[in-house]
Amino acid sequence: MKRATTTSCLIVACLALAWSAHAGPAPEKLAPSATGVTTLRCGTLIDGRSAAPKRDVAIRIEDGRIVAVGAFAPGAAGTVIDHSQDTCLPGLIDAHAHVLIKTDDYQVDHLRRSSAYKALRGLAVVQEMLRSGWTTVRILGDADVAYAHLDVRTAIQEGLFIGPRLTGAGHYFSITGGGGDLNFLGPEHQVVADGLVVDGVDAVRKAVREEIKRGSDWIKVLASGAMMSAGNDPNRAHFSPDELAAIVDEASRLGVPVAAHAHSAAGIRASILAGARTIEHGTFIDDEGIRLLQEKGVYLVPTLYVGDYYLNEQPGSEAQAKLNELTRQYRAQHIAAVGKAIKAGVHVGVGTDYVGFPVKQGVRELGLLVEAGMTPMQAIQAATRVNAELLGWQDRVGTVEAGKLADIIAVPGDPLHDLSMLEKVSFVMLGGREIATQ
Ligand SMILES: [Zn+2]
Repeated sequence: MKRATTTSCLIVACLALAWSAHAGPAPEKLAPSATGVTTLRCGTLIDGRSAAPKRDVAIRIEDGRIVAVGAFAPGAAGTVIDHSQDTCLPGLIDAHAHVLIKTDDYQVDHLRRSSAYKALRGLAVVQEMLRSGWTTVRILGDADVAYAHLDVRTAIQEGLFIGPRLTGAGHYFSITGGGGDLNFLGPEHQVVADGLVVDGVDAVRKAVREEIKRGSDWIKVLASGAMMSAGNDPNRAHFSPDELAAIVDEASRLGVPVAAHAHSAAGIRASILAGARTIEHGTFIDDEGIRLLQEKGVYLVPTLYVGDYYLNEQPGSEAQAKLNELTRQYRAQHIAAVGKAIKAGVHVGVGTDYVGFPVKQGVRELGLLVEAGMTPMQAIQAATRVNAELLGWQDRVGTVEAGKLADIIAVPGDPLHDLSMLEKVSFVMLGGREIATQ
């Protein structure tokens, strides 16, 4: 090969070699997909689809994909990875995270750090998420207005770093004075907000185009006030019906789905009617909202854990005093409403709303969905198969079935009996490649 570069080579080959000399191995060499044949033996398998777990299973993996799932028999092909004492399940999917946020006063913290620093911090977080069993993460806007998290996604896709499969939105759109605006500043201060503050039908259309130009796979809109930011009321609808319709129309034309953060019943209804694909939070959802979700096949991502985290572990947080008070007042109502949605057959997904709490605690979201009325099996399916469908990635991830990418995790014991076992993930495979969990 070296001789070829100095003597005669085709132009394309020379360019490729020159590129690799300057930038290291070509991206596809580093992409997180293993080659060869592996058999993963699992004492128990929760496959993400079946109603009951299977016992003593062999999963045959070739070139990063699952090619067969069946009973284990001695003499299995390729390298055998033995988890005969453990429970295997599909890699978890987090449908709602903000991986750049690390402190309770994130609206101030966003002003302190450079985009580059936030990218590095976010990379560390998503790698820890991967080690903890989250093999896919949807980021719904984050604490950087310069798209740092989308660059983390790109760098992982290019194989520069190992990390989970990432997708998501560059910003959360907010009305002036909304959940993504800096409402605590005096009027003479001109500071960039953490959200993308945008008003009016023409402006939101342009914002959608800009967002997609910069690489957003989703558009995220704050269709009500928020729990965690100052100076706005989560029980109010934000954006006019015309603005919401324009956002969804523009995004749909460009092939990008819309995720609507909506606490208020009116904001939820307006978002569904405008054509959002997912409703985030849904705290004050009413029967009409539940009916519309069910009728239109829109997903609900309740994000119950973040409120519990702050209330229980940071009760004295000044920055999150508003969230703590709202959680105290409305937690029971939110859980009951999610229970109604589950009963009505709404597609309910799993989002941790990760905002800097200990990464391992994110799976506690599943326990709260059980509190709301899911069985543990339903909660695991929500975090795997249902979330894959929410993303439109059901052909790739979300179940342990032939044809899917080999994103598989293992935990000791029986998570159906004790969901906290999911905090003890002992094995992670991403695209057939084993990831160190420590
Ligand atoms: Zn969020």
